[in-house]
Amino acid sequence: MKENQMIKEMRTIELEQRICECCYSYNFKKLWNNYNIVYSKKYAWEFRLTNVICKNCGFVFVSPAPTKDCLNYYYSDCYVPYRKQKLDYDIDSRIKFITRNLHGTFSFLDIGSNKKTKFHLKLKELFSEVYTVELNKNVKSDFYSVFDLPENSMDMIAHYFVLEHIPYVNEFLKCCYSALKPSGIMIIEVPDISLYPKDISALILHEHVNHFSLKKLTEINNRLGFRLIDKSSSLCSRTFGFAAAFRKEGRIRLITSRKINEYPENLDYFKKGIQKLKEFIIKLDSAYLKLRLYSQKGKKSVLWGANSCLSQFLSPDKLIPLNAVIVDSDPDKKNFSNKFSVYQPDEVAQHIKDSDLILIFTKFHSHDILRIIKKRYNKSFQDSEIFILDI
Ligand SMILES: [Zn+2]
Repeated sequence: MKENQMIKEMRTIELEQRICECCYSYNFKKLWNNYNIVYSKKYAWEFRLTNVICKNCGFVFVSPAPTKDCLNYYYSDCYVPYRKQKLDYDIDSRIKFITRNLHGTFSFLDIGSNKKTKFHLKLKELFSEVYTVELNKNVKSDFYSVFDLPENSMDMIAHYFVLEHIPYVNEFLKCCYSALKPSGIMIIEVPDISLYPKDISALILHEHVNHFSLKKLTEINNRLGFRLIDKSSSLCSRTFGFAAAFRKEGRIRLITSRKINEYPENLDYFKKGIQKLKEFIIKLDSAYLKLRLYSQKGKKSVLWGANSCLSQFLSPDKLIPLNAVIVDSDPDKKNFSNKFSVYQPDEVAQHIKDSDLILIFTKFHSHDILRIIKKRYNKSFQDSEIFILDI
């Protein structure tokens, strides 16, 4: 962590009461307190979020929730992914799901787009106009708020892994409804709560305030006048979620929402996910202690893989000890974070050769990494000095 991060002024994310957006109940059971410190350009933000389950319907969400103003301020000041940073979603899956639900080919709106990517270039082959909405003021976008969208203007609206960040779900979806043309299509991708027991990706991201199932998402959308027309897990652009397409129905044909109580299953999915997350954090903490110990003894260490597991390893505010370097073979990862430097292996070859400890943040590539280190630097680590840290 660089010094300028450490002296940033601390801000606390302001919270306000929040009812269940699925059934409007106040009757919750607390499930999990999540504490994180996150850096935006100007500030260090303290997130203290309490996850609850609605006893009436089983929707899992954060309450009290961050205020809209505070969240807008935070997101508008976030770092922009660097130009060369690799996309963490599958473009082809998105395009396939869009294509099979095409309604009109005039206008497409991507909410929460961040910087325009190859995905937006592909969209231009399908639509004559492609617009974006992005809260982050550091990104060039057509709109900076869903509340500014013109009515009845879009054939298709998509938001990919956005709705789990939004504490005002109904208000947000109403804006999408109003911006769509009659019979227009809204595509949503969100993390799937039923996958939490085997994949904690959605739980290690600190900003999530909703944990959807397809049924709960459909119930909310039905009440607002959307009808579910398509769904897919395999065509979701990230592995831990689902994709769903909803059609805007005429106001007269407002759909009666079927009330579904998912309390037992959602409680079970969430608890199992948290258990898995806690086990992972214990593993990370013990590896961090070992890393510190090695540093105190003047021994060198390598942390290999700049990814979300590494971010979790260093959260909320852990420092990288002396005598430790972060390495990633992917040159694009040089700009992975502003909090620490990421080196190419050859840049720190001597450090790797001299190291006694290696922490690898990817299970999938771990064997290849150790093989490359052996082949290129003639260096082997003892089994007790290799930590594979992956979800
Ligand atoms: Zn509820």
